[in-house]
Amino acid sequence: MHYFLNKLNKHTIRACLTLLVLSCLLLVSYPAQVSASSQEDLNYMQKRQHMVRLIEDDVRRTSVYLDKEALDPKVMQAMSTVPRHKFVPENRWDDAYQNNPLPIGHGQTISQPYIVAIMTDLLKLSEHDKVLEIGTGSGYQAAILAKLVDQVYSIEIIKPLGLQAARLFKQLDYKNISSKVGDGYYGWEEHAPFDAIIVTAAASHIPHPLIKQLKPGGHMMIPVGSHFITQQLLLVTKAEDGHITTKQILPVRFVPLTGDH
Ligand code: SAM
Repeated sequence: MHYFLNKLNKHTIRACLTLLVLSCLLLVSYPAQVSASSQEDLNYMQKRQHMVRLIEDDVRRTSVYLDKEALDPKVMQAMSTVPRHKFVPENRWDDAYQNNPLPIGHGQTISQPYIVAIMTDLLKLSEHDKVLEIGTGSGYQAAILAKLVDQVYSIEIIKPLGLQAARLFKQLDYKNISSKVGDGYYGWEEHAPFDAIIVTAAASHIPHPLIKQLKPGGHMMIPVGSHFITQQLLLVTKAEDGHITTKQILPVRFVPLTGDH
């Protein structure tokens, strides 16, 4: 009996010791992993704050075009929270918070953060708005809009980009973005009218279906002009009586709006 207890104790003690060592290993390695990822989040957060400063500087420099010295704080808040690095290829994560456009594959780009910020600001959004975006691309602009309004609809003509953005919206839990693959020139009739429309590719003219799908009192931002030179960023306003006015904001350079319209 004594021998049995002795043996049992030895086994029990060995098992307990193994458990203890494993628990210690877990306790040591788990906080290390957590702090590694929070350290990474912190680094990106700091880079994002720096990007916001760069946007603020550019806004001040271009205030004559924008008629303002600073953008809506809510827009800047969105710019300082959306993780832009997640919307660019992983080998460009380190460059994600420079104030530059970046390639996203298929000959397309994620727009310059300053351009995203001013286009969003000039739409004069309200929290219960429904916004249509033409040119989902990486999904970054849609993610910024999703922080500011109730519902975002976004259309991308290049299927792999559209599908990749849809996966990212799901992964990052953006529940108020609906996206589809298609030609955005024709808008998204079944969800029209929209309080605001943003076109993130250069059109040769303002697409008529988009004017139709804009609510009276609504605004549209669209770069218009030739694909080979700089275009003009236009703010299009539909008055309550349906009258359309356009205002040139500043010269920009966007990839072309494609499709067979
Ligand atoms: N908003 C994007 C972002 O945040 O990454 C950047 C857009 S990128 C400058 C322009 C996008 O418009 C490209 O992904 C391009 O494929 C898309 N595009 C071009 N013509 C289009 C069309 N007719 N309908 C929908 N998307 C179009």
